[in-house]
Amino acid sequence: LKKIGVLTSGGDSPGMNAAIRAVVRTGLYHGLEVFGIMRGYQGMYEDDIFSMDSRSVANIIQRGGTILKTARCKEFFEPEGRKRAFENLKKRGIEGLVIIGGDGSFRGAQKFSNEYDIPCIGVPGTIDRDMAGTEVTIGFDTAVNTAVQAIDKIRDTMDAHDRVFIVEVMGRDAGYIALHSGIATGAENILIPETKTDIEAIIHGLTEKEKRQKLVNLIVVAEGEEFGGADEVAKVVRQRLPKADVRVTVLGHIQRGGSPTCEDRLVASHMGYYAVESLLLGRKNVMVGVINNKIHYTPLDKAVKEKHKIGQEWMKIVKILAS
Ligand code: ATP
Repeated sequence: LKKIGVLTSGGDSPGMNAAIRAVVRTGLYHGLEVFGIMRGYQGMYEDDIFSMDSRSVANIIQRGGTILKTARCKEFFEPEGRKRAFENLKKRGIEGLVIIGGDGSFRGAQKFSNEYDIPCIGVPGTIDRDMAGTEVTIGFDTAVNTAVQAIDKIRDTMDAHDRVFIVEVMGRDAGYIALHSGIATGAENILIPETKTDIEAIIHGLTEKEKRQKLVNLIVVAEGEEFGGADEVAKVVRQRLPKADVRVTVLGHIQRGGSPTCEDRLVASHMGYYAVESLLLGRKNVMVGVINNKIHYTPLDKAVKEKHKIGQEWMKIVKILAS
């Protein structure tokens, strides 16, 4: 193995730059030539590929986003698109790939590798943390800390005015950001896609507070929760408690950006390093994950989006601590 490529694909997440840096510098350490591929599979298809040196990843470990940019590439779904992408790799002699992205990107890599025998190593970059085969993903820690900082600020004004605040965080399929940020900010209720929302219990709690003339309440909602997000939950609360001062904040894309936390930089550095080591050891088509603080490899076709079981115990703790 002499030449490898690295790309970021799908949704971006803070810490991807730290992973790119780790891949490039580990590759160079082993005497490999490392190519950066711009905008995920799109750059592979359009031949937007360049040789990287140590300086091309200088001063990026602390930056959000990805210097390689990311995209969704429709041509890569088609055999002809993948063929053209392969030809672009072949003419440069690229023999292995590190793909930093989510499960869709890994599905593409698996297909590509079956067709062209190019070993692909996946590195999980997603703020949602909902991947099989790993307990950590690059970007989650930053996203959840951004949410905590924002919710803390909302809490100050909520408290000053006796308001009910419903804050929506990201998580179409997974409630980790909502659960962690909700617990860390002392939310009274946390609504996530993994568990059924007991709206009656929430209304009951609010009604009791209203009777005591102290209707201050923080509800943290994942966007994929069963009612369909903060606005929908607010509709129900307003209907049932017409006197309540209910406010909605949707945090949105601020959760994807910003300087990665120390934790995300460590995770990305660790995974990026092991991705290159894996290629050198002859591993192919696996995702580098971390389970119980140890590196863990999962075949790319098993590294799918997975609804982890979020413990009922945590939900019980949330209730007790908010009472
Ligand atoms: P996110 O966490 O944002 O969902 P992702 O990596 O899952 O990230 P996708 O948009 O699903 O993002 O996939 C990224 C790209 O991977 C697609 O635009 C496409 O180019 C490629 N890809 C995804 N699925 C396939 C597939 N089944 N066959 C070929 N290529 C695919």
